[in-house]
Amino acid sequence: MSNQKKIIECPCGVILEGQSDDAVVAAAMSHASEVHDMDLTRDQALEMARPA
Ligand SMILES: [Zn+2]
Repeated sequence: MSNQKKIIECPCGVILEGQSDDAVVAAAMSHASEVHDMDLTRDQALEMARPA
C-alpha cells in the first residue's frame, strides 16, 4: 500500500486527487457514482491512478 499522492484523470476531464491509493480510489469511485451514475471498482480505479 502506497502513501504517495496519487491522481486519477477521469475520461470527462475531472482530476481526482488523494494522499494515498485509498483516498484517490475513494474519490474516483464517488465521482463515477455521483457524476456518471457508474460503478467503478477498486481495481479499475487503481489501474487509472498514477503518481501526482
Ligand atoms: Zn468524470
